Amino acid sequence: MNPSSRRTLTTTQRKNPPMCQHQPACPTADSADRDAARLMAHHPEQGWSLLCNGVLLFEDTGELLPNGRIIAPHRPLRTERVVTAA
Ligand SMILES: [Zn+2]
Repeated sequence: MNPSSRRTLTTTQRKNPPMCQHQPACPTADSADRDAARLMAHHPEQGWSLLCNGVLLFEDTGELLPNGRIIAPHRPLRTERVVTAA
């Protein structure tokens, strides 16, 4: 009887840098609804936002994925989500 099957630390070796702790978890950077992830940083003065899944979202709705892939703008500006503080 050798309880050597501990695998507590193996998950830290995964490649994806974002550590999403949201419930439900945010869409991954390679999923179709990647821009539905939570905002981690918002810099309107610079025209970009960083999403929880590592996607860089630009104000023209263009995106830069964590793997370096570039997504062309795909939405009109007027549909951007507005967060209203209560
Ligand atoms: Zn998240």
